[in-house]
Amino acid sequence: MENILSVKDLSKKYGKAQILNKVNLDIPKGSIFGLVGRNGAGKTTLMRIVTGLAEPTSGTYSIGGVSSSDKKILSVRRRMGSITESPAIYRNLSAYDNLKLQYINLGMTSYDDISELLELVDLKDTGKKKAGKFSLGMRQRLGIAVVLCGKPDILILDEPINGLDPQGIIQMREILLRINRERHTTILISSHILEELSKLATHYAFIEKGEILQTLSSRELMSKVRKSSRIKVSAADPLFRIFDREGIEYKIDSEDTIDIYSDITAKHIISLADEAGVEVLSINENNESLEGYFMNLVAKKDGIS
Ligand code: ATP
Repeated sequence: MENILSVKDLSKKYGKAQILNKVNLDIPKGSIFGLVGRNGAGKTTLMRIVTGLAEPTSGTYSIGGVSSSDKKILSVRRRMGSITESPAIYRNLSAYDNLKLQYINLGMTSYDDISELLELVDLKDTGKKKAGKFSLGMRQRLGIAVVLCGKPDILILDEPINGLDPQGIIQMREILLRINRERHTTILISSHILEELSKLATHYAFIEKGEILQTLSSRELMSKVRKSSRIKVSAADPLFRIFDREGIEYKIDSEDTIDIYSDITAKHIISLADEAGVEVLSINENNESLEGYFMNLVAKKDGIS
């Protein structure tokens, strides 16, 4: 797959502090690339460098095949849209007027696409309401629409989900998926929570103390992480004999909670519970192992450094 952004042996020092250490990354065109790292891992610094807001101490990167040492990088960078700090919006203007102003700044004379953009980011019904009166999620989405005015090939978003409520997180996720699918925009997105990215990212890089610990595709990650279903029952004991008989792999968590690792439908679980005379109170897909996987990688690095 063609890479839209490649980072090679990129390092950054602030004084004596090594913030990034020989980072290598390839972001495939069309991907949603999740950069996952704890606070202070170096995500923002990396994004600031590739967007031209900071200079690396050493190493290079290329956008669309154009190297950062090439003069053409300035024009290629126009194909890049980013939000690495608070979104660049005017709080005393409506959503429509914010986008219109951006169109004017970009020298665009037709404003026909503005309503389509507002619809894309779920802000089409905000009318004359000023952006300063918007919720955090609405401001984030308006910021994304402003960046999309320039029709970027790649969107770089630093922790766009931070601080949003659950509804806002779902809305943001759906919008990013639409942008990726409908506009074929590559998205590089950072978060300190893997779980948040797991519902949209196609690729991941894990970063800790300025070093890339691992890069892998979503499919590779899912095959490494064991999925399980956590069931809560009125009593777990009577189920073990039946699970053993059926060859079902499970782990007992407590007297009423069992983790099931075999691929088994909810209907099948309920029928076996019926046979055992116990009631199934809840069945949840267990994704805790995603965070566990990330924390294990980090712990391994801590162990060797
Ligand atoms: P967060 O989510 O907390 O922003 P991050 O992974 O984005 O985390 P960075 O913001 O890149 O991490 O910061 C990485 C490290 O670099 C931190 O220890 C930070 O204090 C340090 N740092 C960042 N910018 C500067 C700067 N201009 N001068 C000195 N140190 C800096």
